[in-house]
Amino acid sequence: MPKKQFKSESKRLLDLMINSIYTHKEIFLREIISNSSDALDKLCYLSLTDSGVGLSRSDFAVEIKVDKENRLLSISDNGIGMSQKDLEANLGTIAKSGSRSFKEDLKDAQDAQDNIDIIGQFGVGFYSAFMVADEVTVISREYGSDAAHKWHSTGADGYTVTEAERSAAGTDVIIKLKENTDDEDYDRFLNDYTIVSLIKKYSDYIRYPIRMEREKSRPKEGGDPEKHEMETYTEIETLNSMVPIWQRGKSEVTQEDYNQFYREKFFDFEAPLDTIYMDAEGVVSYKALLFIPAKASYDYYTKEYKKGLQLYSSGVMIMENCSELLPEHFRFVKGVADSPDFSLNISREMLQHDRQLKVIAKNLEKKIKNELLKMLTNNRETYGKFYKAFGLQLKYGVVSGFGANAELLQDLLMFSSSYSDKPTTLAEYVTRMKPDQEHIYYATGDSAARIAALPQTEIIREKGYEILYFIDEVDEFVANSMRKYQDKTFQSANNEDSTLRSDEEKKVVEKAQEDNRNLLEFMKETLGDRVSKVIISGKLKSHPVCLTADGALSFEMEKYLNAVQPDMSQKAERVLELNSGHEIFQSLSDAFLNDKDKAKKYTEVLYNQSLLMAGLSIDDPVAYSDMVLSLLK
Ligand code: ADP
Repeated sequence: MPKKQFKSESKRLLDLMINSIYTHKEIFLREIISNSSDALDKLCYLSLTDSGVGLSRSDFAVEIKVDKENRLLSISDNGIGMSQKDLEANLGTIAKSGSRSFKEDLKDAQDAQDNIDIIGQFGVGFYSAFMVADEVTVISREYGSDAAHKWHSTGADGYTVTEAERSAAGTDVIIKLKENTDDEDYDRFLNDYTIVSLIKKYSDYIRYPIRMEREKSRPKEGGDPEKHEMETYTEIETLNSMVPIWQRGKSEVTQEDYNQFYREKFFDFEAPLDTIYMDAEGVVSYKALLFIPAKASYDYYTKEYKKGLQLYSSGVMIMENCSELLPEHFRFVKGVADSPDFSLNISREMLQHDRQLKVIAKNLEKKIKNELLKMLTNNRETYGKFYKAFGLQLKYGVVSGFGANAELLQDLLMFSSSYSDKPTTLAEYVTRMKPDQEHIYYATGDSAARIAALPQTEIIREKGYEILYFIDEVDEFVANSMRKYQDKTFQSANNEDSTLRSDEEKKVVEKAQEDNRNLLEFMKETLGDRVSKVIISGKLKSHPVCLTADGALSFEMEKYLNAVQPDMSQKAERVLELNSGHEIFQSLSDAFLNDKDKAKKYTEVLYNQSLLMAGLSIDDPVAYSDMVLSLLK
């Protein structure tokens, strides 16, 4: 019998399949089963109005059989089936999608059930069988016809269609598996266990039972219990659970069900902090079930962690980790998204340009943000847990987009503050601002206690202004990226800030600066390159000195940058600030006039004090200690 040739574009696709563009050959099973599921949808729909079908909803099924000896794997369904013409048109061409024209027919029929839902545009599905097969045989009988036909192909060289037998409407797809090669194990597709796990993985939620006869063993009846005699028997098992949890209405599912699903699917011991359910209809219809984990997984902050949601198209899993659905700043979210509008695309590249996917991703981002805000407002304790696990991620989110995501994320941020030992949001800070307060003040350090003790924060607190304590290394970068929150600029406590001083106070400082010029120069000379300036300060109250950073780089940033880029050796400009109203300053001035050597020692001691208070280490602790002791004598 002469072989018929595939249409040219089909042939091209087939070549691609044979040479496997799918990285995972195993998905062929999903593709074939999903075709069966479509065929079942069609006949099932017909059965609603045509009693001649003689089957009810529960009769429709997919059946899997394995013939190890002959290396055959067959997938059968009692769906709508195909005529000879269909076999030629559908399996000989890819351009014509049977499901699509069926959908058109449905529209014309006017009586379309709302919930019928047949996925078209599967495109390449069937051909994926050739990734694992030497030979594919399809035996099919169309509903309403007595004749059955057999389509057979060994790949790119064409196919034949001949007459065949089949007792009822439906289709058998019989795959003859390739022999094992050095780098590919095809035998595994003959193994019960592999098949069961593939179906669990990819087709669990196909809405018809997928059945397979399995061999099992049990204690032999009438056997000697002492000898543990066993006998084997076969049992038909349904391999899939059929209804995805996200397809069930929210009211039908308990939180415990959701938690269970989350734990099993995403391998977490703990229940999620929050479950987000979405059922959207509109430009794109989809359902999504999202989870906020209670903890960051051990690999969360490493490169190994893969963000993304599982992507389904009407219960058929098409991607394990669709990263396009989640923005980087919400990469901790786990879950699934399912839309009948997704096509089972063959590559990730295609998904990246998928407009529907983009629409969904935007909606999910908005929803996640709102849910987190809700948690923050209604359940502060839970939010605290969340923030402990993923707060840093949000802060990085603000910084990494050069502030592009600042508006989206700013209300989710929390910081330690001088107000209380609980973290505060920026919005809360602003509501507590004093009427004359223009800025949001912050100070950096390794702990709240340490920052609270910084001399330069005293005068700010004295004014009744709250100070954010920037403890995370990234905090200051966050403030720099945002620049403002609700029109209030961020102001470092290190910054000589005009609002803190009246003109009068300013004049006093300026005058002291002028009066003590010689002393200040002397001190700068003594300290050399260790400081860039020695000045009279306007921001000190009860402390005699403090060390501040001049310019863009703060001490915390210096530490951070030196940790991430050790060879760059970045250094913040150090300014030694003196409190001219302090009695120590008087002693210093006296020493400067009467005993230069003593004045030098005072300078060294004050400088080292300021280093310690700024949370920096002193260069030579022994020399420092000796100096203090010599002054005590
Ligand atoms: P798609 O499913 O995207 O249309 P496929 O190559 O997977 O592409 O299948 C081509 C067509 O073959 C299907 O649209 C359908 O009409 C037909 N077909 C495939 N498998 C079956 C089946 N088990 N029963 C009935 N028709 C089928």
